[in-house]
Amino acid sequence: MPDTSERQRQYLDAMGIEVWVPRDAAPGQVENPVAEPVAASPPASAGGEATAPMPAAEADPPTPVATGGPDVDSPIHRLDWTALAARVANCTRCELHRTRTHTVFGVGNPDADWMIVGEAPGAEEDRQGEPFVGRAGKLLNNMLRAVGLQRDEVYIANILKCRPPGNRDPEPAEMEACTPYLNRQIQLVNPRLILAVGRIAAHYLLKSSASLASLRGQVHQYAATGTPVVVSYHPAYLLRSPAQKGKAWADLKLARQLVAGSSKDTES
Ligand code: SF4
Repeated sequence: MPDTSERQRQYLDAMGIEVWVPRDAAPGQVENPVAEPVAASPPASAGGEATAPMPAAEADPPTPVATGGPDVDSPIHRLDWTALAARVANCTRCELHRTRTHTVFGVGNPDADWMIVGEAPGAEEDRQGEPFVGRAGKLLNNMLRAVGLQRDEVYIANILKCRPPGNRDPEPAEMEACTPYLNRQIQLVNPRLILAVGRIAAHYLLKSSASLASLRGQVHQYAATGTPVVVSYHPAYLLRSPAQKGKAWADLKLARQLVAGSSKDTES
């Protein structure tokens, strides 16, 4: 049975991140799992998934930057888990209900410290009714294991609970219609951290149009719930651009550092 460091190295290998172990390191010791230098900052692409320099991974957590968020004054915010899931399953608040196979509510630990938020279900998620399945889901699982988390220890959800046809980008009106569900999920989970994966999720949660590059590497705040937010790449993007996996690892370390230094908000 491999020890924790060895297992972490195996998961990093599975992410496609090379590990560097000094000659005098103890067996299984992972010293520098980020394979490539992260100083280069190419310009943002039209897709916005550009990269940015990262701060020192083990520095003190930055002060959260508060940004705008949606109104949470909705009857949905009084629903418990069962009622909320039933409401989503029968939702017709936007036109996406016409083309969905299944709603994709969310999955994981309802008392999680980490909440992973993406933009919308894809084809496989629509088929299975679960977020982050398929190849992107497997990569997310490996990313989480690399920071010592199992998939069922975190809570995973998307902003949209129904798949946009053809995997097009969500429309702003669709996200506005669906956001009360996500906000209630965040309230119920009361996570220490939201990891926003991908440009659309980051832009919507932070009410920002800044490049993903400029949003990474700092701690934001989701104004609707006051939850700290760290931004990273969507696993589907990392599958297309594996060179960015090292930067995603840096994001995960920032998130882990933030969670380690925080406590649950008992006011919610
Ligand atoms: Fe309802 Fe959200 Fe599905 Fe639109 S995407 S129908 S708001 S659950």
